[in-house]
Amino acid sequence: MTAPLLIKGGRLVDPSQNLDAVGDLLLQDGKVAAVGGTIAAPAGAQVVEAKGLVVSPGMIDVHVHLREPGREDVETVATGAHAAAAGGFTAVCAMPNTKPVTDNQATVGFVKRQGEAAGFARVYPYGAISVGQQGETLAEFGEMVAAGAVAVSDDGKPVENSHLMRTALEYALTFGIPVVEHCEVMSLAHGGSMNEGVVSARLGLKGIPAEAEEIDAIRCILLAKRTGGHVHLCHLSTKGSVDLVRWGKAQGINVTAEVCSHHISLTEDAVEGYNTNAKMNPPLRTRADVEALKEGLKDGTIDLLVTDHAPHHYDEKEREFADAPNGIVGLETALGVNITYLLEPGVLSLSQLVDRMSCLPAKVFHLPGGTLAKGSIADVTVFDPKRAWTVDPTKFKSKGRNTPYGGHQLRGRAICTVVGGKIVHQLVD
Ligand SMILES: [Zn+2]
Ligand SMILES: [Zn+2]
Repeated sequence: MTAPLLIKGGRLVDPSQNLDAVGDLLLQDGKVAAVGGTIAAPAGAQVVEAKGLVVSPGMIDVHVHLREPGREDVETVATGAHAAAAGGFTAVCAMPNTKPVTDNQATVGFVKRQGEAAGFARVYPYGAISVGQQGETLAEFGEMVAAGAVAVSDDGKPVENSHLMRTALEYALTFGIPVVEHCEVMSLAHGGSMNEGVVSARLGLKGIPAEAEEIDAIRCILLAKRTGGHVHLCHLSTKGSVDLVRWGKAQGINVTAEVCSHHISLTEDAVEGYNTNAKMNPPLRTRADVEALKEGLKDGTIDLLVTDHAPHHYDEKEREFADAPNGIVGLETALGVNITYLLEPGVLSLSQLVDRMSCLPAKVFHLPGGTLAKGSIADVTVFDPKRAWTVDPTKFKSKGRNTPYGGHQLRGRAICTVVGGKIVHQLVD
């Protein structure tokens, strides 16, 4: 039995109930027991002083790679969930491109149980769209959903076969889950390692054109229109993709989309010097793309902010740029990056930021949480939007150190992360 937890005097920001006011929050028996105003501490309650801090519904990251099963040397469900909690996330959705692929009920159940055993952020597994992510046969969505899968994706690569994508969208409708697509036309991206443009030309690296993403994005939007299924587009990186999603939403098509913290904060210029910690798929794009992504987030075209947390071994990232693996870790920097690049410059308001990082992820993926309404699960993020800090990758809870933000000054940091009414992380200076 966890003692009641009283979070006192914070700025309660909860867009799900239009709340932005200083007050107390009481968590009891894993639920929100009372919210707002002055609340007297019940007997035996643990008290957290939150004066000057923001108290929001728990942040949710619907796109992370936790590498277990298969690459426990790089990350485990436990270390990933710990990193999530340290970054202010109370829940994450774990992508299924593990070894073996999470494409069946046993592996989905395994990932879910590893998350529960770790006791940090909640871990919701994805199931694969196709068996072995081979792009040929649909996996058993029903069995995976019964075991705890909240969505399906072949992330790491696209579903190239359009008939399979169409069938996946139809099949997923039965279970009310989104089909989540890594948008990439492989034949067009083939061999590329960064954005195709002036920088790739100067560095002598093969580029990936924006159309490699955009052609897949419009294909999925049109198939969602045809089937009535829900397609969620991963890590959009180009202005053209934002325009296509905006068009799709205007037609009433069931399309949602996400953007990564690195794509709104960095451009292809970060690749200068062949920095492999600036190599990810999709690649960092141009200033104009970054501005369009921010505009999309602001006007609601882009629903969610995610990390695409992708730990890699040090040696792997030490290779030549063209041969180095894609991806960076993000769970412990995302809140600071989003505050520094979106909140501080006024792109998003505080409640919009909480909406894109908590309420909407819960809504789009039909997850518990994303609200501080009385009776909802007691998942809470307490953060200081003004706290200045320097990113030190050696302090990460993640096993991954592959970040482009090492040594960067950020503003905004998680102070206390609460899952089910229990503190799972508290910042110690
Ligand atoms: Zn991807
Ligand atoms: Zn990914």
